[in-house]
Amino acid sequence: MQQERDALIVGAGPAGLALAIALTDAGFTATVLDAQPREALAAPLEDGRDIALTHASVATLRALGLWQRLLPEEIGCIREARVIDGDRQNAALSFSPRGPGTEVLGWIVPNHALRRVSFAAAADRPGLHLIDRAHVLRVATEPSHVELDFETSPGLPQQQLQGRLFVAADSRFSWSRKQLGIAADMHDFGRIMIVCRMQHELPHHDVAYECFGYERTLAVLPAVGHVSSVVVTAGAAAAERLMQLPESEFALLVERQFRSRLGRMQLAGKRFPYPLVAAYARRFVGQRSALVGDAAVGMHPVTAHGYNLGLQSVASLVHALCAARTAHRDIGDAAVLAGYERAHRRDSAPVYHGTNAVARLYASTGAPQRLARQLILRGAQHLPPLKAAITARLTGRGGLQLPGAAV
Ligand SMILES: Cc1cc2nc3c(=O)[nH]c(=O)nc-3n(C[C@H](O)[C@H](O)[C@H](O)COP(=O)(O)OP(=O)(O)OC[C@H]3O[C@@H](n4cnc5c(N)ncnc54)[C@H](O)[C@@H]3O)c2cc1C
Repeated sequence: MQQERDALIVGAGPAGLALAIALTDAGFTATVLDAQPREALAAPLEDGRDIALTHASVATLRALGLWQRLLPEEIGCIREARVIDGDRQNAALSFSPRGPGTEVLGWIVPNHALRRVSFAAAADRPGLHLIDRAHVLRVATEPSHVELDFETSPGLPQQQLQGRLFVAADSRFSWSRKQLGIAADMHDFGRIMIVCRMQHELPHHDVAYECFGYERTLAVLPAVGHVSSVVVTAGAAAAERLMQLPESEFALLVERQFRSRLGRMQLAGKRFPYPLVAAYARRFVGQRSALVGDAAVGMHPVTAHGYNLGLQSVASLVHALCAARTAHRDIGDAAVLAGYERAHRRDSAPVYHGTNAVARLYASTGAPQRLARQLILRGAQHLPPLKAAITARLTGRGGLQLPGAAV
């Protein structure tokens, strides 16, 4: 049996690794376990996802030394966002940065690049222990400590780890969350999101589009050069047909729905389908345990907040644990974890429920829903405080601040 660690984290995805790095940098010890082999974690395959990042998230990524490891060609930026309703040519709603020193609304980075730099930064931290190919068999959270049994290969002897805090970071379908007896409200939207990269003739000028069509919604997010990340959302049967379409026909369909704003378009890689299922855990903490990332809140991607909230959960948990240490308290203490629960519920509940409401409204093709959409968009466009609030959410300062670290 190994020495007791401060935190045992299941899931070496972008949230679990960010937490492990932040805890290590703050002087805690952490072990992360993942089912995948080390090679797959170190060089993740493209998964089609491009992640829109807020200013606060980029501040956190900088503080953890992850942002600095991305290649320049992996970082796109969004200077303006436009929302198009139905078949209209002009934007019903648009956002641009406000305030001095704020030139962009946010950034766009491929998910596999975020995973790669997270793994590389974790591997560089001597105090961070990573166990790959881990099949976790049992998690027991006792009043005094945590035990975790795992094996790395069937037939090899089981091993046990002990810690002071257990953290589930193993996706929205989290196995660990179930082991902790924490239920989650799952919502299946019955729709599929197809993501891919496309090249185009005309420059995108760093403008992101969300086009709410009546059968399909289309998002076009600016990557580097004449390349955009394209996201098509449709019902399951229609999505199946879109996946089967020859590349050139798929490209033409996107080009037409986008009204040729970027000229001729063609696929620049594979199409990846994602069934849309959102998850919200009933509790974010249990006895000596906490949930972070998608294991706590698995967002519908339409508002691009999943990983941003995941980093927010990491910042809130690390903040609570550092405060506990300063006050000479046990990091697994129920009152310490309750502080994290309150902070993350306050940050996530409005975004989660608001996003689901938007997703449902835009999945309906009925006349009342169309009218409601038009009224909401027109209202938002002509209501400066609402627009300012949404823009502030994207560009607002914040993010992780480790004790003694300058962000
Ligand atoms: C199409 C799409 C577009 C998106 N766009 C955006 C965006 O623009 N902006 C944004 O902020 N977010 C976006 N997101 C959300 C973002 O991708 C997720 O929030 C983020 O990847 C979640 O990270 P995570 O570490 O919590 O979980 P995951 O990335 O799911 O990682 C979980 C890890 O746990 C491991 N694991 C799972 N089960 C076990 C087990 N039993 N034992 C051991 N290990 C296990 C897995 O191998 C994996 O490494 C998007 C999501 C999708 C699907």
